[in-house]
Amino acid sequence: MPEGDTRHSVAAAPPIAVVADTGIIADAPWRLTTAGCADIISNYTAVKDWRLANRLQNVYYSEYAGSLSQMTAEMLVDNADSIKPGLEESAWVVVKALVSSGVAMSIAGSSRPASGSEHLFSHQLDRIAPGKALHGHQVGVGSIIAEYLHSGAQGQWQAVRDALASLDAPTTADELGVTDEEVLEALTSAHEIRDRYTILGSGISEDAAREAATRTGVI
Ligand SMILES: [Zn+2]
Repeated sequence: MPEGDTRHSVAAAPPIAVVADTGIIADAPWRLTTAGCADIISNYTAVKDWRLANRLQNVYYSEYAGSLSQMTAEMLVDNADSIKPGLEESAWVVVKALVSSGVAMSIAGSSRPASGSEHLFSHQLDRIAPGKALHGHQVGVGSIIAEYLHSGAQGQWQAVRDALASLDAPTTADELGVTDEEVLEALTSAHEIRDRYTILGSGISEDAAREAATRTGVI
């Protein structure tokens, strides 16, 4: 929930049921579906950030919720070939993944399984460049960079980028419709947005942000 310049989580009851008419969803603009997919792919880095916070800050970590969230992303990536515009089967895959991600958050009692540094980056972009891109698309691009920050050049960031590209989701600042400077500003200030420990720690330098965004081809 936004509160002034920061955001924080408010405890809420999970829904008893979710009604999703996949016939209607399959007819929705394709970019909304790709944004949902990218939001799920970002679970990879959200779980990495959560594990890191557990190791460094003793933040409570649920093995079950973490595994469920990661598995959800894997299932989506494995089914990426069958996710196509206008296909109701695609809507089934994406809706199931989003609900499963919600279940992981309910088990964890927090949004940690599905929200890490890539979400902080997106929230900050919302402030710096409001209304330019969809939430899911922003966290997807954030996830490429977060994955790079976690494990460097030899890490899994290429796999995240390729998964996003195969689903027609943006992988660069240009495709998001934001400038390189806006990306760098969001990256270097994202840690300020809320009290959630991630790979961004207490902030990364502008040089480090530029290096990560350049190496991953985001800028
Ligand atoms: Zn999200």
